Amino acid sequence: MSRMYHCPECGRELRYQSLCWSCKAERERREMLAWTPEQIQKKLEALTADLSRLEEDSWDKDFWALLCYHNAITPELQRAALALELYYPGEIYYQAPADVRDGLGQALLETEDPGEAGKL
Ligand SMILES: [Zn+2]
Repeated sequence: MSRMYHCPECGRELRYQSLCWSCKAERERREMLAWTPEQIQKKLEALTADLSRLEEDSWDKDFWALLCYHNAITPELQRAALALELYYPGEIYYQAPADVRDGLGQALLETEDPGEAGKL
């Protein structure tokens, strides 16, 4: 029989020596919530400069933390995403300004690609 361990935070039984998934996620959440305004700005700048990484990983943790924990997605980032024709995840465009909204509408009218149209 394999050895059992316990999560050091909640005591849940585990087959490995570490935090359990739940405590690990909670720790990450607390760390992201504690970002300072300077950290948020740096993360935002890094993401804006490397937006195409959302194409490879639409679950990018920094993006979702900036959006959901800090409401820090800017019109500049949204304009950059539109220029890159990056339409997924659609949450990029949450509360986008009118020019971005119109750009998305125009892209939808112009696309010949049903997959892209679906994302739009
Ligand atoms: Zn735990």
